[in-house]
Amino acid sequence: MSLSREAYRELAAVVGDAYISEKEHILSGNRVKTPEIPFEYHSADAILLPGSTEEVQAIVKICNRYGISFIPTVSGCSADAFAKHANSVIIHLKRMNRIIEINEEDRFAVIEPGVRQVQLYPEVRRRGLSYTAASVGPGGSVLANFTSTSGDNHTQHGTSRANRYLLGVEMVLPDGEIVRTGSLQTGSGWFCPDGPGPGLRGIVKGYFGIHGQLGIVTRAAIALDPCRGPREIRAEGVSPHQRVYLDSDCSKVRVFTFKDLGSLCDAMVKLGEAEIASTVQKFFYLPMTLMMTDSANAFWEKWNSGIKEEMAMPLVVHLATRSVEELEYEETILGDVARENGGVRVRPEIESWWDEHMDFFMVFGVLQRVLRLGGGWAPIKLGADSIRHMCEVGESISSYIHDYTDTGILFDAPESFQIVPMEYGHSAHIELLFMYDRTNPSVRPEVGKFTARARASDIADHFHAEMPGCLNQTAEQLGPLYSNYHVWLRRIKESFDTNNVANPML
Ligand SMILES: Cc1cc2nc3c(=O)[nH]c(=O)nc-3n(C[C@H](O)[C@H](O)[C@H](O)COP(=O)(O)OP(=O)(O)OC[C@H]3O[C@@H](n4cnc5c(N)ncnc54)[C@H](O)[C@@H]3O)c2cc1C
Repeated sequence: MSLSREAYRELAAVVGDAYISEKEHILSGNRVKTPEIPFEYHSADAILLPGSTEEVQAIVKICNRYGISFIPTVSGCSADAFAKHANSVIIHLKRMNRIIEINEEDRFAVIEPGVRQVQLYPEVRRRGLSYTAASVGPGGSVLANFTSTSGDNHTQHGTSRANRYLLGVEMVLPDGEIVRTGSLQTGSGWFCPDGPGPGLRGIVKGYFGIHGQLGIVTRAAIALDPCRGPREIRAEGVSPHQRVYLDSDCSKVRVFTFKDLGSLCDAMVKLGEAEIASTVQKFFYLPMTLMMTDSANAFWEKWNSGIKEEMAMPLVVHLATRSVEELEYEETILGDVARENGGVRVRPEIESWWDEHMDFFMVFGVLQRVLRLGGGWAPIKLGADSIRHMCEVGESISSYIHDYTDTGILFDAPESFQIVPMEYGHSAHIELLFMYDRTNPSVRPEVGKFTARARASDIADHFHAEMPGCLNQTAEQLGPLYSNYHVWLRRIKESFDTNNVANPML
């Protein structure tokens, strides 16, 4: 279906003919069609590339008048960044890609939605600053991650998730009104997310991201941290054989294995209580093996060499301190915690691989290798609660996953989940990454059954294994576990988006 000529002409008048298209070859490149998404998505009827907040506002107003759904997108790594039904337009924000300000004194950056990780990260790092960067890859939108999607990241043990770092926001609401939140609304700058009056962070982002359903964020400020470890990163080699070194007496990587999840869990809790280390994570061995290899043959060779057994329960720790004395102190505590809980250092070959990739910005680039085997990124769970509860969720996976790994539906890697503590162990995040033969159409329905079973098991156990985010089927199912989240979100959406045009999914 195409837009009415009248609506198309009005939209074109906003952005100019060069920045709107309804050509089939353009639209087909902007449809979700990746192997891990086992259902068809509609094509958008047009795609627009606005260049300013005012243009976004004008587009949104026209969409309301004609009842056209709109979906904001940047890198499109998320399936929710595409049209799900007819009569939709994609608002692609890649032209709005300016870093407006990096304030070194008050430690924040003001960015537009099209600013990619690869643009911002080196800029802040060379100023001795950093931020909680997601592993999505260099092309991911920083703003989308901080304002609209989950925001978990590998370094959150010593810091936190993206939602904690969101400051002032400028946003076009679903009806076209522009709001500016926090200190911004009083003309006091971008530094403060709330007040005077009620905070709007829960509306803008919540915990897990609203995926554009309550409006389009056109500018946002994010808080920056002083960078841990050296500001200079030394790179060697050419992709896919690059190595990245953090040359410093204040940076050290240690990797341990544990005999079971219980002892690994105790060690993570203790490291949090001691408030040491920048990164602490129980990593997943299947992605790790893919990341360590650069071809399918090399993967199988390593996988069959016993790495699965050796690395079933790995704990990766990055110590990144501000002085040599502090590093010695943290290393002593880490050694005690590992020893007391039965942690054993892994082979130097594995530990040195982590040492050469520990800057997670580069690991993002490497993380794309994971897509080689699975063909897509289809993690499930992604919830958060205490470290112990996340370990309980992790333990429970073995009660149903074997029905799918033993029959060959899923790749046989039942412990391939990661648990990442945050804020020195006050909370933690879990992610189960499973893989299957995407070229085999008969496997897909079985994979659907597996994900449904995993969710049903969590709901029956009252586990906070998965978080509701935007208003969709998942929120409807999980809502009762979270104080009827779905009912409250529906009311908010109905009052902000009376025409239900902002990325509707129900
Ligand atoms: C390999 C891989 C690894 C990943 N790792 C992580 C990770 O470690 N942590 C993490 O949090 N996520 C991760 N993701 C998920 C997701 O891609 C990221 O959260 C990403 O930062 C979102 O940015 P994007 O450019 O991909 O956004 P898009 O996919 O373009 O958009 C994401 C969602 O936000 C909405 N949106 C986009 N821009 C705006 C805006 N300006 N205003 C309102 N809504 C908007 C879109 O409609 C869509 O629903 C990963 C994805 C992949 C493929």
